[in-house]
Amino acid sequence: MAFDKDRIKNDLTLEQVAEIIEELGGNPSIHGDVIMADTICHNLPGEGSHKLYYYDNTKLLRCYTECHEYFDIYQLIVKAHEVQYEEEWALPKAVAYVAHKFGYSSIEEDGFENILLEDWTYIKDYDRIKEVITKEKKEISLKEYDDKILNCMAHPLIGPWLEEGITKETMDRFEISYYPKECQIVIPHRDAENKLIGIRGRTLVKEEGELFGKYRPLVVNRTMYNHPLGFALYGLNLNKNNISSIKKAIVFEGELRPILPFQ
Ligand SMILES: [Zn+2]
Repeated sequence: MAFDKDRIKNDLTLEQVAEIIEELGGNPSIHGDVIMADTICHNLPGEGSHKLYYYDNTKLLRCYTECHEYFDIYQLIVKAHEVQYEEEWALPKAVAYVAHKFGYSSIEEDGFENILLEDWTYIKDYDRIKEVITKEKKEISLKEYDDKILNCMAHPLIGPWLEEGITKETMDRFEISYYPKECQIVIPHRDAENKLIGIRGRTLVKEEGELFGKYRPLVVNRTMYNHPLGFALYGLNLNKNNISSIKKAIVFEGELRPILPFQ
């Protein structure tokens, strides 16, 4: 499957590039036509200085410390995977990741839909999945936030989620609440030891969702409750005892992040 990598790259908005950098743990902030981020090109998330710049006019990034070179978003993805997982991603995989994330079809027009897995059909791959050897992830220490902030949130019945079958009981268990000022559903993320490591906000405003993505780190009183999403399993704090007694876990991708085809 091939994608028009230059077209996709040139189409990417600043917000979309920031979203990718955020997912990679780069702590991005947008300043005019420039994104400033941590140097995740050669550092683990949280370790580098804020010296990685992305320029919208050239669609290129530059690292002003170690790397001293220009590279594009695909190369950043490759570099970050190398640093974080010691995993070599070929360029086409990085392109496919971006393409799937933002809903691009391949050049052959065999369409995004075709590669999406039907619910549950992947369970039949269970035996094969058992043989997949996962690369060990580097340990990073995540910042802990004061969870008193959660006491300031509202607890209305969240209609859209109730309609989707998420019960009030489940929402209470996961400490789901609501931040009226930004019209966001509040989703605290805790690590396995129950420390608050970040808070995601799910906007209920359609236009905002289109502009910034539906899920973003919550920002309250100028504090951004962000964290690199790839370094903790959501809900593990509540389920780890069951997992260790049953010795099985089914892990789902959250937040409509891309599903990559098996390679
Ligand atoms: Zn660098």
